[in-house]
Amino acid sequence: MPLCFNFVRRSCGYHCRGGARLCCRGRTGSALWWSMSEWNLVVVSENWWSYKSPDQGSWYWSRLVTLKDQFIEIIAGQYTSIQPYCVAKGYHLLWPNLEKVTWSQQVWGRLNTPKYSFITWIAIQNRLKTRDMLLQMGISGEDQCVLCCQHRETSCHLFFECSVAAECLKALKDWLQWHATTVSLSRLIRWIGRAKMSKFKKQVLAASTTCLVHVLWRVRNSRLWEDSHEGTDCLIQKIKHTVKQRITQCWPRKVKERDKEWFQSL
Ligand SMILES: [Zn+2]
Repeated sequence: MPLCFNFVRRSCGYHCRGGARLCCRGRTGSALWWSMSEWNLVVVSENWWSYKSPDQGSWYWSRLVTLKDQFIEIIAGQYTSIQPYCVAKGYHLLWPNLEKVTWSQQVWGRLNTPKYSFITWIAIQNRLKTRDMLLQMGISGEDQCVLCCQHRETSCHLFFECSVAAECLKALKDWLQWHATTVSLSRLIRWIGRAKMSKFKKQVLAASTTCLVHVLWRVRNSRLWEDSHEGTDCLIQKIKHTVKQRITQCWPRKVKERDKEWFQSL
């Protein structure tokens, strides 16, 4: 891709340094279009890491150079260990050492509907803007759960201590013949991860749990903003239908006969 070098750098010194080999204007008396490879050659011909943007440099060239300085600051000079430097290795230096989580496979399972995974991902980290949080932030005047109207709406309450949520969860467990006793979202997800059952069954349980989380959050929102009331029977039927449809659409290549029969019996 050709670039107008002078336009990028606005640096006469650099332009002149390019000389006859690179300066098109010298030869043609017209535009200053340089090829990307030539441009890179000029940039790396001096020490890029200690390079300072010229005062007359364009705004975005200065910003690019500032980003380079920030990069050096973040990685505390480790760029010298990469010889020759390559972007992929630099990217890995920037990557923070994050703590491993136990819920990733279930929350982002292949059979999950992506938007259900997303809501569950936020919920499992207690980052959904539940009413207790909104009250603390001064956005809401009350923090009562809109589903049961009896307790504070916290993430733990909504998933699944609330009587409405617990009823839906119980129906889901009965439907899937799922014998976990816990009613905590994080424990249920951990339970699936540790369970000694086929991969397919685990995927179905994970897809159902994320669907339940999404449905409860959507119902809570419609009750809060639209004052709509959907009975739990209706919600449960909706969850069952959605899960069956999703799994059928994304049916894995290898499913044991026993698992097929179990799923068809649902
Ligand atoms: Zn409640």
